[in-house]
Amino acid sequence: MPIKNAKRILLKLSGEVLMGEQEFGIDPGFVTELAKEVKQAKDEGWEICLVIGGGNIFRGMAGAAQGMDRAQADYMGMLATVMNALAMQSALEQLGVPTRVQSAVQMDQVCEPVIRRRAERHLEKGRIVIFAAGVGAPYFTTDSGAALRAAEMNCDALFKGTSVDGVYDSDPKKNANAKRYDSVTYDKVLADNLKVMDASAVALCRDNNIPIVVFSIREKGNLARVLAGQGTQTIVQA
Ligand code: UDP
Repeated sequence: MPIKNAKRILLKLSGEVLMGEQEFGIDPGFVTELAKEVKQAKDEGWEICLVIGGGNIFRGMAGAAQGMDRAQADYMGMLATVMNALAMQSALEQLGVPTRVQSAVQMDQVCEPVIRRRAERHLEKGRIVIFAAGVGAPYFTTDSGAALRAAEMNCDALFKGTSVDGVYDSDPKKNANAKRYDSVTYDKVLADNLKVMDASAVALCRDNNIPIVVFSIREKGNLARVLAGQGTQTIVQA
């Protein structure tokens, strides 16, 4: 089921998918494959805001579990998302797609700061805007960053491209009988603590009525299918 009258989307990609078949870091060849799919979506007329996670490089929780100060570790995670954003910018621009990176942690030599009106202008000019560093604060994730940017940029939907093909009632990696939802409400996701996005991100989407479409970005061509309302996905909505 396509999202009705959608024109502008927020596409969130987990950092993990930038690893390709590697165990860690960035696989430039795979980033190029992802960039081709994003370009195709743009060529089809979608206005695209992009948010990329940092889990392929560093997650604050993992650092904290090994004894690091949590906030410090989270800032390292935010820096990881900037590296991913730059890798994606490079891949997109090599394909001829004009792109700007805006970071929630100011880094003048590297990219622009987040300025909503400027981001709006970039989209009007046909550029893709990659929002880096999440919300710019520790104790959050890039899912919350994605929900925040989706709300402030008036996106019609948030597409979450990840390693699984939707939202399940239990972990499909652990339970062979796990059932995937085609559609599920925000309230059920929150009440049952379903693994979609963290609760703050889901609540922000619910309060602003932004549907969340969860799909696997690992399958080639899936972004186009899902944007057309086809393919395997779960829609989280009211
Ligand atoms: N992070 C943060 N605040 C934010 C966004 C990200 O502190 O607003 C840190 C946090 O440590 C997080 C890491 O950056 O674990 C990488 O982001 P995330 O885990 O969301 O990446 P993904 O799982 O999507 O690859």
